[in-house]
This record gives sequence, structure tokens and C-alpha cells, in this order.
Amino acid sequence: MKTIVLASSNAGKISELRNLFEGLGIEVVPQSHYGVSEAEEPHPTFVENALAKARHAARHTGLPALADDSGICVHALRGAPGVHSARFGGEPRSDTRNNAHLLETMAHLKDRRAHYYCVLVLLRHEHDSEPLIAEGAWHGEILHAPRGDGGFGYDPLFLDPLLGRTGAELPLEEKRRVSHRGQALRALAERVCALPS
Ligand code: IMP
Repeated sequence: MKTIVLASSNAGKISELRNLFEGLGIEVVPQSHYGVSEAEEPHPTFVENALAKARHAARHTGLPALADDSGICVHALRGAPGVHSARFGGEPRSDTRNNAHLLETMAHLKDRRAHYYCVLVLLRHEHDSEPLIAEGAWHGEILHAPRGDGGFGYDPLFLDPLLGRTGAELPLEEKRRVSHRGQALRALAERVCALPS
């Protein structure tokens, strides 16, 4: 594997994954470079959506493909918003509306436990029956009001109780160290290194 196509056009994700794979001598190229459109994400689980995105990119480029899917899962809401995290507040997607909707939905809830979840999927080709799958989860709780200016998405509402700070109060490096995405990235790197050459 010398080149991997990334089934995402998110600049942050692209640079994070580029850094990680650079060290392994693998170039990560976004699917937009090959004119590949965004795939549908119609499935009820993160891993199915990530697989669908990776397969779409592998099919259209003939290259190994990497995709991720992530979101926030609230225990008292039986895992919602989950795969619907990006559009929980409706269309078009808006972090402000998503956060307002989450606060409203949880207004009556005492149990504030939640976790972020991220899955990364690497398909070596479109018909790969043994995808490499790596996961990460970041456990915390949902505050009653936002705190902090950094991060994105639900970060101002998501408190890491061990650090005493929200995702929006953590410097990027520290967020990477503890976050669901950081954990999944490190796990995937290990899996890739363990592949026979
Ligand atoms: P996607 O994986 O890019 O589709 O993102 C799903 C959604 O989950 C995002 O739009 C955010 O609302 C939320 N999300 C995922 N990871 C994070 C995070 O690290 N911080 C804040 N929100 C996140």
C-alpha cells in the first residue's frame, strides 16, 4: 500500500490522517482528488456507514480506501443522537442547532452520561472481506450549558470529568491524546503496522 484514498473531504481529518500515515510511508489522498462524490450514510450503525463510505471510494478509484464515522451517544437516550449526530438539530447541519437540540432533549434528565465514538475502516480493495477496523470511545457527561471556545460539534457541552474540562477547553494536542478519534487512529496504525508486507 503506497497510496490510500480517504473517503472524506474534511480538512482536519485529512491532515490528521496524513500525519499518521506519513510515518508509515503511505500517502493519504482525499477522494475529491479523484472526483469521487460523498457516499450515502443510510445505516443505523457507525461501522456500516464507514464501510459504505470506504467501499464507495475503493470502487471508484481502484485504491485502498479509508473512512471514518463518529458521533456522540447519550446513555439516557439509548445511544442517540448516535449516527444522527451531525444533523440532530435538523437540516442544514449546524453545530449551534445540534447543541441547542441536545440541551432541550436532555433538559429533564439527571443521568448526563455520554460518550463520543469513532470507527475507522480500511478496505484494501472494493471486495476486501477482511477490513481493518479500529474503534475509540471517549467517556464523559453533558453539561447544562456550553463551556469553552475550541473544538467543534458538541465539544462545548461535553465534559471530561477526569480532566475537569470540556472538549472545547482542551488544547488540540490534549484532545487528540484522549479523544475517540485519537484512540481509533492509534489503534488503526497498530493494525496497519501488523499487516504482512
Ligand atoms: P462525522 O463523523 O464527520 O459524520 O461527524 C459526526 C458528527 O459527530 C459531527 O458532525 C459532530 O456533530 C459529532 N462529533 C464527532 N466527533 C466529534 C468531536 O470530536 N467533537 C465534537 N463533535 C463531534
